[in-house]
Amino acid sequence: NEKVMDKIVDLCKSKGFVYPGSEIYGGLANTWDYGPLGVELKNNIKRAWMKKFVQENKYNVGLDSAILMNPQTWVASGHIGGFSDPLMDCKECKTRHRADNLIEDFDGTNVAGWSNEQMMDYIKEKGITCPNCGKQNFTDIRQFNLMFKTFQGVTEDSKSELYLRPETAQGIFVNFANIQRTTRKKVPFGVAQVGKSFRNEITPGNFIFRVREFEQMELEFFCKPGTDLEWFDYWRSYCRNFLLSLGLKEENIRLRDHDKEELCFYSKATTDFEYLFPFGWGELWGVADRTDYDLTQHINTSGKSLEYFDPETNEKYIPYVIEPSLGVERLFLSVVTEAYDEEEIVSTDKDGKEKRETRTVMHFHPALAPFKAAVLPLVKKLTPKAEEVYDMLSKKFMVDFDEAGTIGKRYRRQDEIGTPFCITYDFDTLEKDNCVTVRDRDTMQQERVNINDLVAYLEAKMTF
Ligand code: ATP
Repeated sequence: NEKVMDKIVDLCKSKGFVYPGSEIYGGLANTWDYGPLGVELKNNIKRAWMKKFVQENKYNVGLDSAILMNPQTWVASGHIGGFSDPLMDCKECKTRHRADNLIEDFDGTNVAGWSNEQMMDYIKEKGITCPNCGKQNFTDIRQFNLMFKTFQGVTEDSKSELYLRPETAQGIFVNFANIQRTTRKKVPFGVAQVGKSFRNEITPGNFIFRVREFEQMELEFFCKPGTDLEWFDYWRSYCRNFLLSLGLKEENIRLRDHDKEELCFYSKATTDFEYLFPFGWGELWGVADRTDYDLTQHINTSGKSLEYFDPETNEKYIPYVIEPSLGVERLFLSVVTEAYDEEEIVSTDKDGKEKRETRTVMHFHPALAPFKAAVLPLVKKLTPKAEEVYDMLSKKFMVDFDEAGTIGKRYRRQDEIGTPFCITYDFDTLEKDNCVTVRDRDTMQQERVNINDLVAYLEAKMTF
């Protein structure tokens, strides 16, 4: 639904969630900056993930490893040899295409596991033409590596060449022994990390869905070989529950298992969590049983022992790994899509006439909402007293303060940015009961709450 996507993008830009990157210089394609509300939503998403996957999970610990790594890392991981897309150019109009996309878009054929020759033959046999000019005159297919290259130090030669990491996972694998030794964790245990990754994607797009600079939230869960498929199931349901607890609807999530042809050669099982974005189903979260592939590769490349010694059975083994890997931007886009709503509201005015209006509202889960509450003095005269409430609440949460315009207009503004509670300070608050009116964003119901109970009231609403 293109219209919904446009509306979401417009709202994100106009309210300060997401701006086009480097805009005053005409932008830089497919880069995005997160504005005052976007940075809150993004941080809340990352905090929610860390809370569920580290704080509340007794198996897991956290890590923050460097973006720049010894290039041997990418030899071991297979990214230098194999992390590439099959590209071909149209000789007529000089546009560049991914061969696999050309075939999939042509007749839906899944080309996972095909060689370049197989794809080339298929394109010729079926007469697949350039989507841009309609001719069939392509170059051969070449593999294009997706890693960003950069240089360290003063000379730009091959010895100083480095890569921006294309995933956070390898920072975890190279620290496996460090973490196991220093935490004295026994297998099974997991290491969770949130951080930037970079991929020189050929076809970025769909707003923040596919970008070249993005953040990942990855867990590498180490377990005993043979127990891996049980843990694979455990993490799949853990991930699913996490999404549901943050308000994503069941019908907008589907789990798609990779069949044998699609599986990576080292993976025993992989499930993609797909979300129904406005442009259709797209991968949100990949959960994979990576066997002992990564640790074995690092053992072979570094010559270091990364085996685990099980003190209970006196066995030595290389742990198997279950990896749930989630993109921050993709969860951001899912959360925004899920939250976006336009409601028709019918009310009666002073003269008893029916009034209809459309309310744009973001139904964010309170734990994710940029502002948890907005404090609104009924009239400007009450601003100093209302500010006392603001000062008290802002020690605990992000809260907004708004004294401009009618109460109705202020409610609508907060609805649009997804603030779950509006707190109005009126004359009764001051003169009678020390209570404020708390208005619920979703039900629009109001209730009186004592100022002394406000923090506990809001905290209770934020659990997930
Ligand atoms: P896709 O098939 O969409 O390119 P992938 O299978 O290459 O994704 P993984 O390598 O499994 O993705 O990465 C794990 C997660 O990281 C993805 O599920 C997604 O949430 C996120 N991710 C990967 N590439 C990008 C990107 N270019 N922009 C934003 N998020 C990304």
